[in-house]
Amino acid sequence: MSVEPGSGRPVLSLPEVSTVTTLRQRNRALVLKEVILAQETTRANIARDSGLSTASAGNLVAELITAGLVEERGLVSSRGGRPITLIGPRAESAITIGADIGERGVAVEMFDLAMTRIDREFRGGVEEEDPERIGVHLHEALAALHDRNPDRWPTLLGVGLGLPGVVETASDGTQMLYAQSLGWPPVAVRSLCDLDGVPVLAENGAKMQARAELWFGSARGAHHALIALLGRGVGLGIVNAGQVAHGAHSSAGEWGHMVIDRGDRVCRCGNRGCVEAYVGSDAILSAWRETGAVFEGTGWRAMGDLIAAAHRGDPAASTIVDDVIDCLGAALGGMVNLTGPERIVIGGWVGLRLMESLGDRLTAAVRKHSLSRPGDQFELLVAKFGGDAVATGSALLPLEALIAADPMSERRSP
Ligand SMILES: [Zn+2]
Repeated sequence: MSVEPGSGRPVLSLPEVSTVTTLRQRNRALVLKEVILAQETTRANIARDSGLSTASAGNLVAELITAGLVEERGLVSSRGGRPITLIGPRAESAITIGADIGERGVAVEMFDLAMTRIDREFRGGVEEEDPERIGVHLHEALAALHDRNPDRWPTLLGVGLGLPGVVETASDGTQMLYAQSLGWPPVAVRSLCDLDGVPVLAENGAKMQARAELWFGSARGAHHALIALLGRGVGLGIVNAGQVAHGAHSSAGEWGHMVIDRGDRVCRCGNRGCVEAYVGSDAILSAWRETGAVFEGTGWRAMGDLIAAAHRGDPAASTIVDDVIDCLGAALGGMVNLTGPERIVIGGWVGLRLMESLGDRLTAAVRKHSLSRPGDQFELLVAKFGGDAVATGSALLPLEALIAADPMSERRSP
């Protein structure tokens, strides 16, 4: 590969992220996040939502406008008073890239600062991926995006990778992927994607989905939430006090490998009786196949056929769907007792299929398997983001790094 996606000016480097900032810098970061979250807002709303005085908010907005990250977008009339100026992120000032690294391919999406998707590229889809193929696919996809967007590439904040496993970050910032369910040895994230001068930030895919839902989706505004990713693999983002929980070494949320039935079905991780061994797509569809059912594929359509057969009263399909709902209810009900969420968000392609027609039954199953008090205190919703949830959440990582570092540190002019 001759393309050097990092040929543009690096906008920030990783060590700066941990720099202790002054109160003013922190407040500036807070205002930038409020503007990006709101998409369009006013100085008064920023002051209200961030707890700053109107004067401070106004000053910080002015600084961000000078830095070229925020813009004024015309006036709206206010009740009886002067017209109010709308404020929004200056979309063209930066791009961020998120990649969903799946077991069957790599989906790479490019967003502007307003988090509008402006391009995407997919590689794979035929064979099972391995770390080496993922590295090649990522490089090809990034090269294609670079070639189509050469003018914007110098404003690239970084690349976020949503990975199928536990992602650990060492104190020096190096990251390792532990994808036990895929049978891979530990993989250095740098070996998957190494861009000269451009930060590459990786995280578990389910946590990335949780980030997307927390910023812009069904978990928005929630302080305590569970965001389930149900697909071939099964994961969970646990939102605690407004943040996606990591645990001591970032493995928090490996709910797919919580054992719910000792000594029964073998899971892909090698253990027995894990949640994923009952509600992962492979487990669901192979259980259906074992009943003699004939269907095509292992994906979206097959899952839809199963649920449709259950709704028609097919006894084998009904039993399997009943088991999936009950099993998910037990697995999520335990998490309700442990974490006390105000919201449960069901995502991933299996989750979206289930939520088309079985949301009420799933809610009832979770309540049945929770203590009655916390069981009455959550609402269960479908995820807002479908197939692009992990890529969208991944693209938020470089954006968070920009916000966490002082947004003014390398930007003095538009
Ligand atoms: Zn397992």
